[in-house]
Amino acid sequence: MRIARTAAECRALRSELGGSLGLVPTMGYLHEGHLALVRAARADCDHTCASIFVNPAQFGPREDLSRYPRDPERDLALLNAEGVAFVFMPELGEVYPPGFDTWVEPGAVSAPLEGKSRPGHFRGVATVVCKLFNIVQPQRAYFGEKDAQQLRVVTQMVHDLDLPLEIVPVPIVRDADGLALSSRNVYLSSEQRRQALALSASLRLARALVAGGERRVRSIKARMRGLIQREPEAAIDYISIADSSTLAELTTIDRPALISLAVRIGATRLIDNTVVLP
Ligand code: AMP
Repeated sequence: MRIARTAAECRALRSELGGSLGLVPTMGYLHEGHLALVRAARADCDHTCASIFVNPAQFGPREDLSRYPRDPERDLALLNAEGVAFVFMPELGEVYPPGFDTWVEPGAVSAPLEGKSRPGHFRGVATVVCKLFNIVQPQRAYFGEKDAQQLRVVTQMVHDLDLPLEIVPVPIVRDADGLALSSRNVYLSSEQRRQALALSASLRLARALVAGGERRVRSIKARMRGLIQREPEAAIDYISIADSSTLAELTTIDRPALISLAVRIGATRLIDNTVVLP
């Protein structure tokens, strides 16, 4: 496995490889969710590239950029074991050199949910992802459904800007007890981790209600809220039931719906989601 630290090195490695390339963009501190993306890329493409870059542009001023967990040695060992051809691991100044002044501004699909709670987040995501696509030049790029809105923002950007690659979604990987894997789970104490199970439990409750015939968004949200509020350290940022493609809020589940939520457990903000059909 090779390591590229500059865009020029990355391009050189890419051009040495014939055939198709799959890209897995990450912020590192890898877990089985990231590795599921790598395995999907390995299955589809002749070669796989992973990128590791903690992108300051997608963190707000009061977010966890400075304490975001990092373990590049372990990440590289995991990626090597998965058969990744090369890793793009740039320094901050390689991605945002002095004078950097152009941004990708996503539209309506970036406005609600995470976009509302984290102003500027998707502008940062879209900009770095666009740069990664231009530097690595993959045929396909793999994104987790864990970040459902991010997947939609990136897919819309690729369509709108005629970027020559395909975006491939990968299902959420969970621990056996239901907690969606996230690099941020490392912030949780064992008691907080137990309380964090309320996110996935509330989504299972919502699925069960819909399966039992409930279609009223208000009552589903109320039941979810009730379940989460039992946990002493849980503070709900949002619970949303929205059209799964436009992300416009629904009052009735009469079409495929994305049920998503963001909840703070102590100081740690967690997200999760599921899609239900009417
Ligand atoms: P991150 O390093 O958190 O930016 O995540 C990098 C990629 O891994 C994104 O496409 C995420 O959606 C994806 N990802 C993170 N956690 C999971 C998970 N539990 N299951 C599937 N994909 C995930």
